[in-house]
Amino acid sequence: MTPKIARFLAQHQPATPCLVLDVDRVEENFRALRNALPLARIYYAVKANPAPQILQRLVGLSSHFDAASIEEVTACLDAGARPEAISFGNTIKKVSAIRQAHERGVGLFAFDSREELEKLAAHAPGSRVYCRIRVENAGADWPLSRKFGTTIESAKELMTEAATLGLDPYGLSFHVGSQQTTTQAYEAAIGKVAMLFTDLTEAGVNLRMINLGGGFPTRYRDEVPGIDQFGNAIMRAMTEHFGNALPEMLVEPGRFIVGDAGLVAAEVVLVSRRDRNDPVRWVYLDIGRFGGLAETEGESIKYRITTPHDGTRMGPVAIAGPTCDGADILYEKTNYRLPLALKSGDRVELLSTGAYVSTYASTKFNGFAPLAEYYL
Ligand SMILES: *Cc1c(COP(=O)(O)O)cnc(C)c1O
Repeated sequence: MTPKIARFLAQHQPATPCLVLDVDRVEENFRALRNALPLARIYYAVKANPAPQILQRLVGLSSHFDAASIEEVTACLDAGARPEAISFGNTIKKVSAIRQAHERGVGLFAFDSREELEKLAAHAPGSRVYCRIRVENAGADWPLSRKFGTTIESAKELMTEAATLGLDPYGLSFHVGSQQTTTQAYEAAIGKVAMLFTDLTEAGVNLRMINLGGGFPTRYRDEVPGIDQFGNAIMRAMTEHFGNALPEMLVEPGRFIVGDAGLVAAEVVLVSRRDRNDPVRWVYLDIGRFGGLAETEGESIKYRITTPHDGTRMGPVAIAGPTCDGADILYEKTNYRLPLALKSGDRVELLSTGAYVSTYASTKFNGFAPLAEYYL
């Protein structure tokens, strides 16, 4: 928790649940990544947290933006981003969205299929395009692998055709999976894509760019490698494969930029024991899977939780949300322990919830209001 957030919580005691995020930390994370990878252009993945306060701060730092929808394109433009600083990085775009983005001056688009390439040729003629390659997502706590990306063979075919279709075959991209905890995932992906890059270049395609995607981790319960380790591993792999002929490099961090900048303040609604002899207490919070903590699905992302009783005796717990839905359980298999003194009415904090929380909140499920948000 940053001092600014601590002060805000103490002074205002905002109603829970709410997300409180320190925009200065967003800037620190952005600068840390820029220092770790000075040769890469940073495209912030807006979907991690599209709050205007975040977008505006990043515009001030000359960030670029990776947008997933026309609504996100608009949010970036509204925050002051230049259209040239926006990449429409979703490989699944409606024709109307492609057309509108193109009209507003966006000229960089991702694709991973023939039909999408043809849509881009028809509705965003002359644009720079890059093809997303499917790579291993091992080591990622929130993998993305099966839904996106194409094979080396079909990427080769499609990138060769792009120019014939009136598009600019600008580069290749991949995503090693979100909350990627190993640097080797990037090294392996770079090796795979570099070979294709070389093949295409030799075949006369004017490729200039490699987009390394996002995936850089936030520290939750477990330690993760620091951003410098990712930067070093990436630069080592890039120079190994490209020597002095380095292509332009893009990165699309989402989680790393905003994850540890925010926390969720919540309240304990109920602590119950199913059976008097059961050591496991069920702790129900006023936020759960549907209030924004969607990444607890499969207990994938394990948030750190602080309570007013920290430092006193602990016992095992299962942790769940407040809705009448059986899927609204945050942690049952993971060995969470919380103080034995914890009781209904206590305020708790879920740390590093700045990414992929506010946008995942349902609007009215069980009548609960969407998550309140404060940007400091
Ligand atoms: C979600 C996404 C990102 C951001 O991923 P993080 O793991 O949050 O860094 C980047 N690029 C694309 C194409 C994405 O879909």
